Amino acid sequence: MLVEQSRSLLCTATAGRVDPAVRYMTISTVLHEAAHNLGPSHEYRVDDRTDGQVFGGPLASTLEELKAQDRGAVFLRLARRPRDHEQGDADKTHVRDVLWSFGHIAQGMNDARGSRSHTRNSRRCRWVSSTSRVLRWNAEEKAANGRDVGCFEVDLGKWPAAVETLRGSRSASSRAAIVRLAEKTRDEWVTDGTPWAALRGTIQERWLRARRASFVYSVTSP
Ligand SMILES: [Zn+2]
Repeated sequence: MLVEQSRSLLCTATAGRVDPAVRYMTISTVLHEAAHNLGPSHEYRVDDRTDGQVFGGPLASTLEELKAQDRGAVFLRLARRPRDHEQGDADKTHVRDVLWSFGHIAQGMNDARGSRSHTRNSRRCRWVSSTSRVLRWNAEEKAANGRDVGCFEVDLGKWPAAVETLRGSRSASSRAAIVRLAEKTRDEWVTDGTPWAALRGTIQERWLRARRASFVYSVTSP
């Protein structure tokens, strides 16, 4: 299903780098979760106020997810040494990260209770903004499946520079400036009626065509 979904959204060159092996997804997840445990988080206080008091609960949660996700991307760059990994491995991981963000986009921006999903919003904001020069929409080109018109190309050559941009993206000078920057980024990529919102709709439509797995559990007593 992953291959089918990716071939409906990616152009041929990028789709050729999709490897469904689980290891190309696991490393990003591990680094994201590790990053949650590094640096300031909700139990810290600045001027005797928690992040929830400074930013408001929803935005604080979004920023925490943003922290974990962008640190994960930086750590992946730092951890990679040419002698340890082939460049092809890194490229496969990056393409899987993009597909993973498509999956979040496809599930919509609100959770089941109608409130915004902080994880999805932050991950989406983060990925789209950081990859704005990496991810390119080719409106006229056919996707790798040969049927859908319009596809995404991932320019992996620009990936390292985009990650470096993330590294410096949270150097806003004051609390008010951080809040403004966070809200601007969130609104730019999450609101309706923008060119990106139309592409979000395309991602959602193609991604959700694939059948979804159902899990059925049964509990038996000995
Ligand atoms: Zn997280």
